[in-house]
Amino acid sequence: MTTQQWFDERHDYAGSSIGFRVTQRLHAEQTPFQSIEIYDTTDWGKLMTIDGCMMVTTRDNFFYHEMMSHPALFTHPRARRVVIIGGGDCGTLREVLKHDEVESAVQVEIDERVTRLAEQYFPELCESNSDPRAQLLFIDGIKWMAECEPESLDIVIVDSTDPIGPAEGLFNEAFYRSCLKALRHGGILVQQSESPLAHLPLLKNIRKAMKGAGFQAMRTLTFPQPCYPTGWWSATLARKGVDLSDFRERGAEMKQFATQYYNVEIHKAALAMPEFLKAALEG
Ligand code: SAM
Repeated sequence: MTTQQWFDERHDYAGSSIGFRVTQRLHAEQTPFQSIEIYDTTDWGKLMTIDGCMMVTTRDNFFYHEMMSHPALFTHPRARRVVIIGGGDCGTLREVLKHDEVESAVQVEIDERVTRLAEQYFPELCESNSDPRAQLLFIDGIKWMAECEPESLDIVIVDSTDPIGPAEGLFNEAFYRSCLKALRHGGILVQQSESPLAHLPLLKNIRKAMKGAGFQAMRTLTFPQPCYPTGWWSATLARKGVDLSDFRERGAEMKQFATQYYNVEIHKAALAMPEFLKAALEG
C-alpha cells in the first residue's frame, strides 16, 4: 500500500494551508532567483511551485489567467501594445493574444527557467509563444519599466509572485509611477493583488501606492483561485486619466475566442464589491 503523498503549502500568517495529492516530484532546481519545483498530481494535472508557493496547476490556472487579462482588454477601447511583467508560465500571454486588436505583447520575466519549465510541463500555456506579436524578454521588470518609452503602452499586467524577493519592487509607488509614465492616456495597469481575505492590508497598500503614483481610477476584481491562499484572489485595475466605470459589454458578449471562466456576466459580477471589501477599500 503506497502511502499517499501530498504537497502542502502552509500559510502561517492565515492559519490555513492548501494541499494537493501528488504522485511524484518531476523536477526541482535552484535558479539565480528562486527555487522551482514541478509535481505530478492525482487530480490537478501538473503543479509548479516557486519558493514553496503554488504558482500554477494544469487544472485551475484558467481562473487567474483569464481574469488578469480579459477585464482590462475589454475595458480598453482598443489595446494595441500590452506588456506583462512576470507571467513566466505564459498563461497570461496566451489570453492576451486571443485579442485580435493586440499588435504587440511583450512578456518581461526575470527568470528564464520558469518559462523553459513551463514549455516542458505546461505546453498548453505556451501555445502562443511563437505568435509573431509575442516577445519574451528575460530581464527585471522593474528596470525594464523604468526605462520604457513614455506613453508607449496601452496595458501593463503585473503577473508576479508575492511582494518578496525579486517581486518586492513591483508593489510600490515608484514602480507604479514608472507604469503611469509608460502608459498612454486611458491606459490600464493590472496588478495581481493577492487575497482580499488573507492579505487585505497588502491590497490596501497596493491601492494607496497606485493612488500616490497618480492613478485616478481603481477597481479591484475578485475571483476564485483554488491553488492560492484562501482560494479567493484579486486583480486591481488602475487607469490613467479615465475612469473604470464601464467596459465594452458588447465586445465581451460577442468575443470570438473560448474561455473557461470569463464572460460578460462574470465581468460584471467581478466588479461588484463585497460589503467588507467596500468598507475597507472605499470607506
Ligand atoms: N500567478 C502567480 C501568482 O499570482 O503568484 C504568478 C505566476 S508567474 C510564475 C510569477 C513570475 O513573476 C515568476 O515567474 C517570477 O520569476 C516573476 N517575477 C518576480 N519578480 C520579477 C521581476 N522583478 N521582474 C520580472 N519578473 C518577475
